[in-house]
Amino acid sequence: MTPEYDAVIIGAGPAGASTAAILAEAGRRVLVLEREQFPRYHVGESLIPFTFGPLQRLGMIPKMRASQFTKKYSVSFVQPDGHRSQPFYFFTRYDKETVAQTWQVTRAEFDQMLLDHARERGAEVRENSSVTGLIKEGETVVGVEVAEKSGRRYTVRARMTVDASGKEAFASRNAGWRMNDPYLNKIAIWTYYEGARRQKGIDEGTTTIAFLPEKGWFWHIPLHDDRISVGIVAEGKYLTRDGVKDPRAMFEREIAENAWIRENLADGRCTGEFWVTSEYSRHSRYCAAPGLLLVGDAFAFLDPVFSSGVMLALKSGVLAGEMLDQALEAGDVSPSRFAEYGRQMREGVENMRKLVYAFYNPGFSFKDIVMRHPEAKDLITDCLSGDLNRDYSQLWDWISEFAPVPDSLPYGAPLV
Ligand SMILES: Cc1cc2nc3c(=O)[nH]c(=O)nc-3n(C[C@H](O)[C@H](O)[C@H](O)COP(=O)(O)OP(=O)(O)OC[C@H]3O[C@@H](n4cnc5c(N)ncnc54)[C@H](O)[C@@H]3O)c2cc1C
Repeated sequence: MTPEYDAVIIGAGPAGASTAAILAEAGRRVLVLEREQFPRYHVGESLIPFTFGPLQRLGMIPKMRASQFTKKYSVSFVQPDGHRSQPFYFFTRYDKETVAQTWQVTRAEFDQMLLDHARERGAEVRENSSVTGLIKEGETVVGVEVAEKSGRRYTVRARMTVDASGKEAFASRNAGWRMNDPYLNKIAIWTYYEGARRQKGIDEGTTTIAFLPEKGWFWHIPLHDDRISVGIVAEGKYLTRDGVKDPRAMFEREIAENAWIRENLADGRCTGEFWVTSEYSRHSRYCAAPGLLLVGDAFAFLDPVFSSGVMLALKSGVLAGEMLDQALEAGDVSPSRFAEYGRQMREGVENMRKLVYAFYNPGFSFKDIVMRHPEAKDLITDCLSGDLNRDYSQLWDWISEFAPVPDSLPYGAPLV
């Protein structure tokens, strides 16, 4: 049977929408199937400087500049006693007009913009449409089964199926390829505040990471609609100590543990709803299999402490779209064509993962390593900014004087 589409994409988040935009722009027949009706809520609001590259490749920069999203120029860190470091400005290292200025986004709006952009480039999008199964001929995926919210069910055939289903990792979960990252088994609880105190001027969009005891942390992300996104991430046994189980109670107890957070939220009003997630940081054993390609969180999902998720999702969508277009042009979409895609994405995830491991180690602090090795500062900055396809072995050597650096995980090659 002749496939109706060159690619069918499961999920319309940043990874799916960017893959779709690149393929459609190249004249490919693309269908995006999204379970929800957009705009839909999603966590993950803080972008990092190297998101600029994929956004530019997509042609999104003019739209981002015309948006109301809060401009983000820096990150700062706060000790439990309330002492706040000077904001760390990205423009000390990168061009202020491009890479060094990024954004705090509300994902409902940002993801809608990306999806509209994919539509403008020619992608077909169907919302309220869940993918419920992969169709296989032998070992090759040849399409998907779809269930609409209306109750209608049908199948779609495509030369390639791209899994961009996010943390749900539709394909790798069903195939048994999802691998835990046992050390990074934290819990996150988050909510929103309105009318809380905001910094002024260039610091208005600063992300603040505020430390809690036992290597837990708060995020404080100022959004453009007078809301602040505030969350805590920590070990479950720390958050539930003394038998506390209610998310609001856990959250409010931790506010009392950090003076800066307490003072900066004091004038605000909590909007009420609390979200909770656990079990994050998962990796797919493979990036591709016959007829199948994995992008974004569906390929690898890393602890969000350094806000790398959206950048990695967009980067993987752009790269996967370009490589799939070349494979379609060559008439060969076999898994081995995606070996370089898998290698590049895993290299990036591993570099960020090593820094995340160090962050959670009680023996490590950015201050100590920079005091001993001042040259480490630029390398740490580059890694935190998302410049991830680089050799950081010198940095890992220095970090290993304070905390063990994990070996790279042996995942991410195509299944051939
Ligand atoms: C607590 C927390 C805080 C975070 N903070 C940040 C941050 O500050 N900055 C940052 O960059 N990242 C952050 N992240 C990570 C970020 O949210 C993700 O990395 C990013 O959303 C990944 O994009 P994606 O397109 O791969 O997946 P998603 O954005 O999750 O999109 C997947 C889409 O697929 C759809 N879908 C799923 N299953 C199906 C199906 N079967 N059929 C059809 N559609 C389906 C979903 O509805 C969804 O719309 C955070 C994550 C967490 C958990």
